[in-house]
Amino acid sequence: MRARATSLARTAHRQTTARRIFSTHRAAAAPIRASHAMAMRFIDVGANMMDDMFRGMYRGKRAHDDDTGAVLARARAVGVEKIIVTCGTLEEARSGVDMVRESRMINAGPELYATVGVHPTRAYAFRDDPEGADAHVAKLLRVAEDGARDGAIVAIGECGLDYDRLEFCDAETQREAFARHFELARAVGLPMFLHMRGGGEHVVIDDFVDIFSANTEGLTMCVVHSFDGSLSDAERVLAVAPGRVFIGVNGCSLRSEANIDVIRAIPLDVMVLETDAPWCGIKRTHAGYAHLDLPPEHFPLAVKKDKHVPGETLVRDRNEPAHALAVAQIIAGIKGIDVNVVADVTYRNAQRVFFAQKRIE
Ligand SMILES: [Zn+2]
Repeated sequence: MRARATSLARTAHRQTTARRIFSTHRAAAAPIRASHAMAMRFIDVGANMMDDMFRGMYRGKRAHDDDTGAVLARARAVGVEKIIVTCGTLEEARSGVDMVRESRMINAGPELYATVGVHPTRAYAFRDDPEGADAHVAKLLRVAEDGARDGAIVAIGECGLDYDRLEFCDAETQREAFARHFELARAVGLPMFLHMRGGGEHVVIDDFVDIFSANTEGLTMCVVHSFDGSLSDAERVLAVAPGRVFIGVNGCSLRSEANIDVIRAIPLDVMVLETDAPWCGIKRTHAGYAHLDLPPEHFPLAVKKDKHVPGETLVRDRNEPAHALAVAQIIAGIKGIDVNVVADVTYRNAQRVFFAQKRIE
């Protein structure tokens, strides 16, 4: 009884949060000019809309009001039709489902969807669950099943391995947690949103491919998101389940000349677009920046977070889903193809991966 009351209180709190977030949802469309992008449509397959930066909080300090509504309005203005909200803990996934359902009542677009899973840097959550790792899997499964029923949850993840940030969670714990997500994906028949980082001191690709290839049976499709590996890494993950693996491209995939060469070589047919907002933004210093074809006011509009006026400016160094357009332009520039083609092919790829699967009844 007490547990039930606590859980109801938690749900009520989450719903209040969601309502607050969407109170600005009808905000005026904001200042990213999209005149030559009107015909394009995008699916941002990974945006961390649960991040505090969209609530106006930076490292625990308030810099401005919650401006989620204005952020979504800007995304809508450039043609972002759907955003998959990346969730990286059990609690975040529960809040993510609430956020998605709340957004449906507003119905201004873009459509929101969410994932359920545990980010590799938080993989200790399985071990640290007072009821044990199996119970943690069961709790994630309940959120996945509940969310899959009405389409609020469209993927298992993000999950995977992050060997660049072993200070948060050791590799062994990450590997165990990663493997458990395949059980979830099989149980609900959902695609997966995978994270793979580690090209420096601790090379991740061998472990990633080992765990992935041992678990392909019964899997639908997956995206290896925020890809910044080598071409050989890309070929290896694509070969694990040919036709069922896609590469997620965002600003982090377009930073260096080496990144650019890899993205040039990966066929558009296996790519999906994402922003990983508020992270992985495109910076002037990045190799990809030269390929941008945005109206000049697009980026300079960004101001320091404490000077930010929601609905009028963008926050400097805070990435947002509207920049899916910028990712598409850079890919187009690198490959020497029309940005409309990039938008169209990646949209259809994302549609196939996340929105064409059979749902549980
Ligand atoms: Zn990630």
